[in-house]
Amino acid sequence: MGMFDFFRGRIGFIRGGKYPHCHTVVVDDDMRAFIDASSDRDKLLALDGEREADIILTSHAHEDHMLYNSLFPRAQLFVHALDELPFRDIRALNAQYGLSPEEELFWEDFLVKECNYVPRRPDRLLADGNTVDFGRTQARVIHTPGHTPGHCCLHFPNEGLLYLADYDLARSGPYYADVCSSIEDTLRSLDLLAAIDADTFLTAHGEGVYSASPDLIRAYRDTIYQREERLLDLLADGARTMDEIAAACIVYGRPRTMGAWDLSLSERMMMKKHLELLMGQGKVTSEDGRFSLAG
Ligand SMILES: [Zn+2]
Ligand SMILES: [Zn+2]
Repeated sequence: MGMFDFFRGRIGFIRGGKYPHCHTVVVDDDMRAFIDASSDRDKLLALDGEREADIILTSHAHEDHMLYNSLFPRAQLFVHALDELPFRDIRALNAQYGLSPEEELFWEDFLVKECNYVPRRPDRLLADGNTVDFGRTQARVIHTPGHTPGHCCLHFPNEGLLYLADYDLARSGPYYADVCSSIEDTLRSLDLLAAIDADTFLTAHGEGVYSASPDLIRAYRDTIYQREERLLDLLADGARTMDEIAAACIVYGRPRTMGAWDLSLSERMMMKKHLELLMGQGKVTSEDGRFSLAG
């Protein structure tokens, strides 16, 4: 154990700290792999020093999952095809967040200086159902879009482990605030994950290790429906502007930050996604910058 906070078969787990860190799954087999190399710099370097990492697999293109990728330039980088571009181009990474031009400048600097961003061409593009073979350990790639278009979870059937990455079971619920995030895809992905047979869930943030139960994933999914209900309740009281809806803090409960991130931007983007979905369903209309219940 020592190095690891959890270990089963040839799979170890290293907890990372808060953003821009996340937890790392280490596969220590014929092939040594770091899955989401953003946890503990010293531990990852010590492992790599003892036997070089062969594979860096990044679950999706967010800076808190690729934080230390650039420390391992000789390892092969595996990512899903739909999230490939942000690994090669910092502007594509930045463009995901829907920022103003000034915010983009600040953010590019942050990505390079604080998140060690170095552009890199992935060596293997993952697709749903792929098997990643580490030796005696095999993982099945489960494409789970919604959080990002190319977000992947990994199922290790022989060890009964399911790595949920950023479907992290956080009490606040799922994140779908990027330009390319999708509520409907998130719902589909979570239903898919709840149907997978596993003994233990691993997540990229928070507690990290859970005794598996589909109810955990369903409760996490249901926070999406609760957000929608609270939004409909707010609009039932009268028409609201986007600013008023964001100020209601339906997602985060109060104004919050996460490291360099002001979560009021995420709050606004997620409410926008809900409004778009509800307008598509004919339940909400907008007029002169105000949103109200249809009919
Ligand atoms: Zn993420
Ligand atoms: Zn994350």
